[in-house]
Amino acid sequence: MYANILIQHKIKSLDHTFTYHIPNELTNELEIGMKVRIPFGNSIINGIVLDIFNTYEGNTKDIISIVSKELKLNKELLELGKYIKDKYICTLISAYQTMLPSSLKINNNKESYELQDTYIVLNKDESIINQYINNNKRAKKQIEVLNQLKNTKLLKKDISSSIINVLLDKDLIKYEYVSKYRINKDNIKGDKKELTEEQNKAYKEVDLSSNNVYLLHGITGSGKTEIYMHLCEDVIKKDKTIIVLVPEISLTTQLVNRFYNRFGSDVAIFHSELSEGEKYDEYRKIDKGEVHIVVGTRSAIFTPTKNLGLIIIDEEHTSSYKQENTPRYNAIDIAKWRCNYNNIPLILGSATPTLESMARAEKGVYKYIPLNVRVGKAKLPKMTIINMQDEYRKRNMILSDDLKIAIDKRLQNKEQVMLLLNRRGYSTYITCESCGYTYKCPHCDITLTYHKTSKQLRCHYCGYTAFYSDTCPECHEKTINSFGLGTEKVESLIKELFPSARVVRMDKDTTTRKGSHEKIIKGIENLEYDIIIGTQMISKGLDFPRVTLVGIINADESLNIPDFRSGENTYALLSQVSGRAGRSDLSGEVIIQTFNPDNKTLLNVLKNDYNQNYNYEMNIRKILKYPPFYYLISIKVISRDYNKASLEANKIAELVKKNKNGQTIILGPTTASQFRLNNYYRFQIIIKYKKDELLINYLKKLDEMYISNKDVYLEIDVDPNRL
Ligand code: ADP
Ligand code: ZN
Repeated sequence: MYANILIQHKIKSLDHTFTYHIPNELTNELEIGMKVRIPFGNSIINGIVLDIFNTYEGNTKDIISIVSKELKLNKELLELGKYIKDKYICTLISAYQTMLPSSLKINNNKESYELQDTYIVLNKDESIINQYINNNKRAKKQIEVLNQLKNTKLLKKDISSSIINVLLDKDLIKYEYVSKYRINKDNIKGDKKELTEEQNKAYKEVDLSSNNVYLLHGITGSGKTEIYMHLCEDVIKKDKTIIVLVPEISLTTQLVNRFYNRFGSDVAIFHSELSEGEKYDEYRKIDKGEVHIVVGTRSAIFTPTKNLGLIIIDEEHTSSYKQENTPRYNAIDIAKWRCNYNNIPLILGSATPTLESMARAEKGVYKYIPLNVRVGKAKLPKMTIINMQDEYRKRNMILSDDLKIAIDKRLQNKEQVMLLLNRRGYSTYITCESCGYTYKCPHCDITLTYHKTSKQLRCHYCGYTAFYSDTCPECHEKTINSFGLGTEKVESLIKELFPSARVVRMDKDTTTRKGSHEKIIKGIENLEYDIIIGTQMISKGLDFPRVTLVGIINADESLNIPDFRSGENTYALLSQVSGRAGRSDLSGEVIIQTFNPDNKTLLNVLKNDYNQNYNYEMNIRKILKYPPFYYLISIKVISRDYNKASLEANKIAELVKKNKNGQTIILGPTTASQFRLNNYYRFQIIIKYKKDELLINYLKKLDEMYISNKDVYLEIDVDPNRL
């Protein structure tokens, strides 16, 4: 028997399979999708078995061994890899690598991450044990252990090692290893809520035996999660499984807990903050069919669920469903593929669906399910816009008078406040007021952000750090000053203005350690904090009944991002974070600070008018030929050598122009928005197209052509999130 094996190799053009002979001792065990060790050139490497067959003419080497018998890529996932390769223009091996948790990745040789408990058990018949006991009456402790062992096995760590050693020596006991999971939940199930009339209507619209895509467009607090859980219950009744995707880990905590409370140990979780071992365990639970529900972030879409019955993607508009390195897949596309493969429905939930999704719902491609009221007594918050130009005249640079008064009122009422600023650090740039010197990243050409807590200057692109000093490195005057606004600065001002308030900051800098999200969220839930300051991390999904005021410190931060989606994203961000206010019977208020009080997007947020914002944005997209009217592909041409990058970019643009149809538009090359990154120069070509087989096929060729180019490389992004 022979096998075709896919390997990982630096030169991607080797993305074809190699044939090996299966030695007799492996023929019964080897299956398609397994990881094996093989001789390759002068070395021994790993590969994935893609095919097994009987006859082959030609010389082959033998497969050495199977790396892991327990886990393998199943048929569905093997097929899915081919789709990813085709859709996102990448190699098959990089598709499979992305799909596997790192414990199972091709080059990892560790056979098992299994965690085991060591027990001691009797190794002889009871008559022999009794005889020993009779003959050794003075060994009280040994006798005690032996008597216990007659009824049950004992954990090794609970027994003194000297006793164990004696009994082992006499061959009376032996070790027994029992594997266990790192994450264990009780099997209690409960917390089921009766659906409201509106929820029930939405729930009934979902046909679980269909292959429909549903867009569940429900305002914040309308109870989407409860609907998801009711549907999960129905799927479980059919003994089928569900994948529930959530945008990011900060969000999973609350949602996962709701799922745990409802479905107990029937839930596995899967996200990047789990340890290798935890991921391995959860993956195995899923693979063995021990759980019905998987809740997780983007990569959970690749878990080997058996008998899949439903996929739910919560907050479907979130950019984190798209992976920003190769393969640049979008989990929503993957979900659609898996739903088609299994002939099951997909639910996309959001308070602010993407324009693409809404347009599909309008066309009837998706089934549209609206939810327009908040559950219970909760009402949408009252919103105001504050013109910061007026406040500046009053020397209120960060907080307006109205926001200060509103915060004060909440503190007196023992309610909670959330302040959003989508920019971490203390200030956004540092400059010398004498000579004009500005600190920039030596590798990326952008200004460094000042992080006061750690006294560091950091590049938010590449992670470069330098120490902060108040003396200018150019003119040596002590006239260094920092400008711009980050969450740290807001935090220090708030602490100054409201010294008795308990303040917590939640951004990338305060949540790097494992479990730190959960700790902050628990603290907020337990009312240990009065004021929560954070980046977009605090905007989504979280449900804190005592938050009654949301302040948006600088709405322009997000509006001013030079990207075709910035209006759409700002609307989503601001309505999401506004949705955190007034989620119980306490009424909520939102204050938006801006220098552009007439901005259309902000006015739409104020009116809470998704549809108007949708029409406004769609109009712009149509005129400018952006999605959903056209598809986009961006090609970045990257090199350490400026001239080479520029030259190749021009060459590629010309080549692409020759290999497209008449409707397709090619823009550029121009410099990419992060032009210099980590000492690499980056040019960008943007392609807008509707349907263009010629183009897509050419891009695949182009990608392969550049694989062997050592000086210049391409980054092709199909359906990019941003340009
Ligand atoms: P969304 O995800 O749409 O923003 P949630 O699912 O978080 O909304 O629901 C908002 C709040 O309402 C939660 O605290 C939830 O427990 C509660 N809730 C949802 N549905 C019901 C219901 N049918 N009965 C009582 N409370 C509900
Ligand atoms: Zn940098």
